[in-house]
Amino acid sequence: MTNSAPMNDSSVRACFSADYAEARAKFIALAQQADASLEHHVLEGQLGAQGETLATDVALFGASGDAPLLVLSSGVHGVEGFCGSGCQLALLHDTQLLQKAHERGVAVLLIHAINPYGFSHLRRTNEDNIDLNRNFIDFAHPTRNPAYAEVQALMLPAEWPPTAANAQAIGDYVAAHGDDAFHDALVTGQSEFADGLFYAGTAPSWSNRTLRAILRRHGEGRRRIAWIDVHTGLGPRGHGEKIHNGLPGMTENLHQARAIWGADVVAAWEGDSSSRQVVGHAATAVIAECPQAEGVGITLEYGTDDTAAMHALRAEQWLYRHPHAASAGQRAAIKQQLRDAFYVDHDEWRGMVAGQCRVALLQACLALGR
Ligand SMILES: [Zn+2]
Repeated sequence: MTNSAPMNDSSVRACFSADYAEARAKFIALAQQADASLEHHVLEGQLGAQGETLATDVALFGASGDAPLLVLSSGVHGVEGFCGSGCQLALLHDTQLLQKAHERGVAVLLIHAINPYGFSHLRRTNEDNIDLNRNFIDFAHPTRNPAYAEVQALMLPAEWPPTAANAQAIGDYVAAHGDDAFHDALVTGQSEFADGLFYAGTAPSWSNRTLRAILRRHGEGRRRIAWIDVHTGLGPRGHGEKIHNGLPGMTENLHQARAIWGADVVAAWEGDSSSRQVVGHAATAVIAECPQAEGVGITLEYGTDDTAAMHALRAEQWLYRHPHAASAGQRAAIKQQLRDAFYVDHDEWRGMVAGQCRVALLQACLALGR
């Protein structure tokens, strides 16, 4: 495809991949073709679902130094990488947009598959069941979430599919405590149950350490960094909600994000997002690792099927906790259900995803560049 050829269904489809191995191979090949500087951070001691190498791959366009940096990252939440990788491959195909960044003196950094294990093995979490967006915390002060234990007993029953009695018990909990309290207890993050949901871990994960090293290396000396981190699973199908990636109370930073990406940038801590305020977001690493930079970022959170995501997560977590209880057929069905809940395998959805990401990249490029 050249920059004069409009994107059509098949060219958009070609940006997305059927599995991690395909996504990685395409990312590397396209980045090489486009003359990016490439580096590979291999996750040692683990292999992918097809026996393939697992790695976070990084492609840089433009110079290091003090040029502004536009970051596009994927796969913090493993299986959500099907979407984020597609956005990155669409940019690698987009010579017009890359040329615009070049002309305006904006360096572009693509971080592919921050959690390669989860991407390959169809998990939202990493090789240690850690939710990376709960793992970027100060481990001297781990996340305290005492309400989680009771909710886990409801959400991860011993048998799957859950019984009618289990559904009733969840309904009773929500009626007694309220929907907000229920969801806060569930998703805030927890460090007590290593085989539970939204587990923060007890130490920085490999992905955490790797991402920090990438940011230090490529963020060094930058005065301005704008970061788009692609996720899926929340909000209306096909809509990319722009969620501010700052910490609660960073009002000025939120204004900067709105100046770049528009008035519809929302903040979980302001209560107007599909996402809830959680502790330990990966994107907060830029604050610690690039202290000299004015860093601003969003999560681009694409809606899939909101009602399916939590059910799929529960099922897949049950499978993780009871690996021998499921038949091969049930196992495959649960994995497929998780994939479907976080990636809509449909051309129309892929087109919406790629188009909205292009807008966000263009906005950042114009805001950062000269
Ligand atoms: Zn996510």
